[in-house]
Amino acid sequence: MIRQYELVERVKAYDPGADEEALNRAYVFAMKAHGAQTRASGDPYFSHPLEVAGILTNYRLDDASIITALLHDTLEDTEATSEDIAHLFGHDVAELVDGVTKLSQLELQSDATKQAENFRKLVLAMSRDIRVLLVKLADRLHNMRTLYHIARDDKRKRIARETMDIYAPLAARIGMHEIKDELEDLSFAELNADARDSVVNRLAFLRRRGGDLIGRVLDELRTVLAEAGVEADVSGREKLPYSIWRKMQRDDVGFEQLSDIMAFRVIVEDVGDCYAALGALHAAYPVVPGRFKDYISTPKPNGYRSLHTGVLGPDSQRIEMQIRTRDMHAVAERGVAAHWEYKQGPVAGRDGKQYRWLTELLDILDSAAGPDDFLEHTKLEMFQDQVFCFTPKGDVIALPRGATPIDFAYAVHSEVGDHTVGAKVNGRMGPLRTVLRNGDQVEILTSKNQSPSPEWEHIAVTGKARSRVRRFVRGERRQQYVSLGRQIVDKEFRREGVEVTEKALAAVRDRFRAGSTDELYARVGEGRVTGREVYAAVYPESRVKDRLGKVVKLATARRRGRRSEHAVPIRGLIPGMAVHFAKCCYPLPGDRIVGIVTTGKGVTIHTIDCDTLESFADTPERWLDVAWDTEVGEENQISRFKVVLLNEPGSLSNLATVISKNGANISNLKITHRNVDFFDMLVDVEVRDRRHFANLLAALRATPAINSVERARG
Ligand code: MN
Repeated sequence: MIRQYELVERVKAYDPGADEEALNRAYVFAMKAHGAQTRASGDPYFSHPLEVAGILTNYRLDDASIITALLHDTLEDTEATSEDIAHLFGHDVAELVDGVTKLSQLELQSDATKQAENFRKLVLAMSRDIRVLLVKLADRLHNMRTLYHIARDDKRKRIARETMDIYAPLAARIGMHEIKDELEDLSFAELNADARDSVVNRLAFLRRRGGDLIGRVLDELRTVLAEAGVEADVSGREKLPYSIWRKMQRDDVGFEQLSDIMAFRVIVEDVGDCYAALGALHAAYPVVPGRFKDYISTPKPNGYRSLHTGVLGPDSQRIEMQIRTRDMHAVAERGVAAHWEYKQGPVAGRDGKQYRWLTELLDILDSAAGPDDFLEHTKLEMFQDQVFCFTPKGDVIALPRGATPIDFAYAVHSEVGDHTVGAKVNGRMGPLRTVLRNGDQVEILTSKNQSPSPEWEHIAVTGKARSRVRRFVRGERRQQYVSLGRQIVDKEFRREGVEVTEKALAAVRDRFRAGSTDELYARVGEGRVTGREVYAAVYPESRVKDRLGKVVKLATARRRGRRSEHAVPIRGLIPGMAVHFAKCCYPLPGDRIVGIVTTGKGVTIHTIDCDTLESFADTPERWLDVAWDTEVGEENQISRFKVVLLNEPGSLSNLATVISKNGANISNLKITHRNVDFFDMLVDVEVRDRRHFANLLAALRATPAINSVERARG
C-alpha cells in the first residue's frame, strides 16, 4: 500500500503547487470513511482508492483528480455525502466525485454487447469533465488487476466483458493506449483464458528458441544508428498476448516471426532525427514493402504521430519499428493526459489554474480543433445533444435532447409506442411530456386498447415518433370522418323513408369528386358535402326541400326537448378527431345536444341551450341533429361551472372537499374576479355525465361557504 507521504511526494514531484494539505485530508477522510471495509482479496478497502490515485500519478494528473480518486467510492459505499465532500474539498472535487459515482452506478445495468456503442457514448456524455473519465478508467484498471479475487465466475465474466466492450475502447479514443492495452489483456485472460495461455506458451517457446535474439537485434540497431550519427534510444517491447491474438484472428495466421511478437522503438530528439534514423535503417537493411507509414506528416485523427517501417533486419528477421520523438511518444502512450502536460509547457502553474482547461470538456474540444485533434471522432460535444436512457432490462436507448417517454417508447418499438398509456421514470410515474435526462431508467406502460393521441405529435421530438403518430392520427381521423359521414347520409335517407345503397352512391359519387364510396362518406363527415346534397343527387326529381324545413325541425326538437329519431349517434367517434366538444358549454352525456358542422373539421357538439348557437342561426345547413348513444357516461368528461365563494379562510378547501367527496376531479381552476366579500371562479371538473354533474352542483349549493353555483354556458 502506498503511504500517505509517498503519494503526496509523487504529486509534488510533478506539480510543486499541488495542495498538499488537501491531499492529506483526502487520504485521511477516505481511510476513515471506508473504515474496516475489506475487498474480495481481504485487503482493507482503502487500498483500492489509494491504488487508483497511484495509477493517476503516473499520468501526472492534477491534485483535484488525485483527491477524486481517493474519494471516488465514498459516496457509494460509505456514510459520506456530497455535501461533506463539497464542504471539505470544494465544489470542483464534489462534482468530480459525483460524476465518477454516477458512472459506477451505470455499470450495474449493462450486459448487452450489442449496446456497446451507445453505452460508450453514454459514458462520454456523462463525463462532462474528462477527469471523471480518467478516474473511472484508473478505477477500472485496478479492479481488473484484482479481478481474480472475485469468487463468482459470472460476475468476473460480466466485468471483463464490459471492460473489453466499453472501457478499453474509451481509453483508446482518448489516446491512452497503455491503459487500453492492459485493460484488453486483463479482460482477455478472463474471457478466453485458454486462448491466452496458448499465446503465452508459444511466446515462451519462441523466446527459448531464439536465444538472445532480441539482445542481438537491439545491439545491431544501436550500432547502425550511431554510425549514422543519430542519437537514439532503442528499445524492444513484447506485444501483449491479446494484441497478438487479435492479429492472428484478423490475418488468419499463426505467429512465427520476431515481427509478430516484438515491436521495436526508436526514440529521438526532434523530427529531423526521425527522418535521419529512418534513412539510416533503410540504408542498412532491405525494406519490407508496404510497411512504411508516415504519421508525422499526416498524423492520425487522434493526434498520434510516428514513422512506422518494417525491414529484414539482423539474422534476416523481419522487424517492425516505430520512430518518434519523446513528445510524440508521450502522447502515444498517455493520450489526453500528455496533451495537457505538453500544452501547458513552461507557463504551467503561473496562475495556479494550470489544469483549468481540463475541467471543461468543451474547452478541450475548442483547443483540440484542427490536425492536433486528440479526440478523433470523440467529438464529445456531439453527444451533448443526445441523452441515453435505459430500458428496465438495461438496454441503452439513444435519443435527442428534449426527448420524452413517447420518443423512448417508439424507439423501443413502434408497437410499444402505439399502445403507450404511461411511463415510469426511475421508478416513479411521470407525465408523458417529461423531458428525459441521461441515465434515466424508463419503463413504458402499455395497454392494448390505447392508440396514439393527436397531442403526442407535439410532445414527441424524434422523427420516428412524430411521423408514426401523424400517420396514425391521419388514418384514424379519416376513419372517423367516414364513419360520421355514413351515419349522416344514412339518417338523411331514412328521414325520407328510403334505405341508402352502395349502388346508388356509386352512381353519384363522381359528382362530388369522390373516388370511392368511403371517400364520399369522408367528405360528408368533414362537412364538405351535406347529407341533403347526397340525397338530392340520388333522387333529383324529389327536389331539395327548402333548407328552412330542417331548421324548423330542429327547433321543434329543441322545444320538445326530446331526442329525434333521426339524430346521428356520436357512438365510437373519438373526441378531437371527427367530433369536438365545444369549449363554451362542455356538453356531458345526458345533455340535449346539437352538432355544428365546420367545413374540413367535422362536427362540434354544443348543449342545445348554449348561447354560442345564436351565432349559427343564419346558417341552418350547418346544423346537425345529434344524440348521445348513451345517457350514462363511462369515461370522465370535462365540464365547467361558475362559483361565487365567500372570501374567508377555508372556503376554497370546502369547495375542493365537496368536489372530491362527490367523486369528481378538478382539472382546472381560475379566479375571474375578487373583492372583499366574495370571489368568482371558473372550475373545470371531470365528471361522468349530466346526472353526476347535477348532483355535484346540488351538493355545492348546499355548502355554506358557497354563495352560488351555475353551470357555464357559452
Ligand atoms: Mn472503485
